[in-house]
Amino acid sequence: MTTTLFQGGRVLTLDQSDRQYHDGCVLVRDDRIAYVGPRADLPDTPVDHLIDATGKLVMPGLVNGHTHLSMIFGRTLGPEKLLLDWLDQQLPMIGAFDGEAMYVAQMLGCLENLKNGNTSLVENLAAAHPDDTAMEDATFRALRDSGIRGTLARAFEGRNFLPDFMESLEDQARRVTALAERWHGAEDDRLRLSFGPLLPWCMTEEMYRETRALADRLGLCLHMHVAESPEFNRLIAKHLGRDIRQVELLHETGCLGPDVQVVAVSDVSPREVELLAESDTRVLLDPPTRLFWGTGFPAIHPFLDAGLTCGLATNGPAANCGQDLFESMKYACATAKTAKNDPQALGRYRALRMATSEGARAIGRGDQVGCLEAGLKADIITVDLEQAHLAPTLDVTAALVYSAKGTDVRDVMVDGRLLIENRKALFVDESALMRQAEEIARRCIREAGVDVSL
Ligand SMILES: [Zn+2]
Repeated sequence: MTTTLFQGGRVLTLDQSDRQYHDGCVLVRDDRIAYVGPRADLPDTPVDHLIDATGKLVMPGLVNGHTHLSMIFGRTLGPEKLLLDWLDQQLPMIGAFDGEAMYVAQMLGCLENLKNGNTSLVENLAAAHPDDTAMEDATFRALRDSGIRGTLARAFEGRNFLPDFMESLEDQARRVTALAERWHGAEDDRLRLSFGPLLPWCMTEEMYRETRALADRLGLCLHMHVAESPEFNRLIAKHLGRDIRQVELLHETGCLGPDVQVVAVSDVSPREVELLAESDTRVLLDPPTRLFWGTGFPAIHPFLDAGLTCGLATNGPAANCGQDLFESMKYACATAKTAKNDPQALGRYRALRMATSEGARAIGRGDQVGCLEAGLKADIITVDLEQAHLAPTLDVTAALVYSAKGTDVRDVMVDGRLLIENRKALFVDESALMRQAEEIARRCIREAGVDVSL
């Protein structure tokens, strides 16, 4: 048995009663939280590892509900392109990946997420299939080795896409079944698998129905981009040959429900919000990336008014230029205020919960993580409060949502294992990983023939 004690800091539990302790302690025994409370009441127990949290905030790790770590090598490419043209530039590079390239991309992405305080993430992986499930296996190995709490949401493309990425329904079923057997629930349920269509015009209605049936058979969640922009809805209507919007299509094909996560939802009608709410579908919002593309952004308040469970996300590092969920909290509030012309449209407490406990519920991990509470998994971060851009910290929640940055995170623990200590990664040689990433990224760009000057 190993015990770690966070001591001397301010503890923000984000539990149901929103308890906070100015001189608090969090005791971790193996992979779980054993005690949260004032230092004075700490049970007398031997401690293997002491983390001095003086001047820091101890809080739950953040939940990044949606990203594309496989696109990390394209971070600086095409930032002023139209979204769909940008995809045409990015995807061939991923098509040139071998297992090593995918592993390094994923490890770099996990490192970036952990250094930003994101202890859980959902990696939405679109990849070619050069060797059946080699890309998914490489991704799972990186999630395993980095120590992060990760779900691989495997994308499916059935038509209108790059030939190397497309597959039949039979291949999807065979590959997802094999991956579920190998990886779903592995590492004491730290690793999970989910799946779903990447882009709606790459699907027929039959593909939606079959994908839903497969998810039911295997007990896996569906995770998919939905109504990202008005163009999405136009393309769906064009390719299906009838006047239908995406959430209506998901409703018709049975693809809504509490086990479904809809991502980047921006162009939805009031009726579609009702359909999402009636089915208790989970919503994942990525405001900085919506603003990055200039394709419109979700109002957010209709989802909140309808009682939906909402999480926050960064989306991919190439589509956001970072993995900073503090930025997503700030921009969620800013876009909600702008859309409603109301400074209270999304408050800081709700935004913080969307990045922690509510976000964990949105991706189906609410019983594992999201707040500091005895018995839950020990996913914990510390934030350095003694910095010019955070002082004076009269309202710590406001400081976190509106002033803090991912680089303010100092220590990161997942599943009781310390992965980052005082900003230094303990699971990988950071410099060596970055050198390897630089080399492999240039090789893949060359092999894919991507014009980096565009
Ligand atoms: Zn995405």
